[in-house]
Amino acid sequence: MLRYSLNAASSCSTRWQALLNSTAATRDDFLRGYTVVMMSFLPKITGSFSSPAADNPTVAVMEAGYAARNLDIRYINCEVAPERLADAVSGAIAMGWLGFNCSLPHKERIIDHLDELSPSATLIGAVNTVIINEGRLIGENTDGQGFVEALRPVSDPLGARAVIFGAGGAARAIAVELALAGAHSIVIVNRSPAKGEKLADHVNSQTDADCSFLAWTPQFSVPDDSTLAINATSLGFYPDHQETLDVDVESLRPDVIVADVVPNPPETLWLQAAAAAGCVTLNGIGMLVNQALVNARLWTGQTLDTTVMHQALSKALQIS
Ligand code: NDP
Repeated sequence: MLRYSLNAASSCSTRWQALLNSTAATRDDFLRGYTVVMMSFLPKITGSFSSPAADNPTVAVMEAGYAARNLDIRYINCEVAPERLADAVSGAIAMGWLGFNCSLPHKERIIDHLDELSPSATLIGAVNTVIINEGRLIGENTDGQGFVEALRPVSDPLGARAVIFGAGGAARAIAVELALAGAHSIVIVNRSPAKGEKLADHVNSQTDADCSFLAWTPQFSVPDDSTLAINATSLGFYPDHQETLDVDVESLRPDVIVADVVPNPPETLWLQAAAAAGCVTLNGIGMLVNQALVNARLWTGQTLDTTVMHQALSKALQIS
């Protein structure tokens, strides 16, 4: 679907009309994937800097969310090599962008280019969202906030007793945000003990949550008092979707909420096993969409429609 409304009939609008009415191939190429809204000739701009960028579906989610709210804002997915990050940041400032996401490999290096860091980005030590406010750059990390937002309708993070598998960027963001949201305790379980211990020590010393490390032994048994068990490793991501966690799923009580950060496929083997054990499950799509929701709020002050964004992501990932 294309919706475009122009302020007045003009030679420019005639040119757009000509483009849109041109060959079916051109029009279909132009429209493929997501709704395009053109409400003025000078929309506000947001976007993403990463490398590689081609498989990042966030553009589909954001543009669908903006379109559904009739916001005159675009989201541009940009391939930015590490040595061009400074140029890309200068360009975004020069062009008056509202802000941008940064994904791998820029999440830590971007900090050198910022004027300010939010408390959670400081604790996480990485930034995935930059807000440009009158030329000042403020770094946020919304990875973990997206997880917590997705969790809230199912279970209050306040007082949660979580076990997190993994100690990379996603695990770190989730552990910090769960701690800031009032989790009682967090157990980090990771393949590489040194990384797991480091994350546990960091969260334990910097937040009020009681955070500890447990070695990942074969057929790991989820601690009895856990209320939340999260896969924050990359295990199960397509095309390695036949891989899963070495965990004794019989140790999952039915009242444990089980989550996965992997968005593709959404129903990983880990979540399938948890559902079979009677647990409520949360997939990685919810985290991704809610992260986009938080980003849009930071850039525009508006709350986008998560249903539309979910649908756009499912379509982009060809998930029925
Ligand atoms: P990192 O590379 O920073 O961390 C990867 C983690 O996975 C490490 O803890 C690593 O353990 C662990 N791991 C990898 N392979 C295995 C294995 N075979 N067995 C056990 N552990 C393993 O990645 P990120 O934290 O940035 O991302 C992790 C996942 O989260 C990715 O799939 C990513 O796509 C997803 N993600 C999803 C988001 C969403 O919105 N849904 C947002 C951000 C990330 P070790 O330390 O031992 O190497």
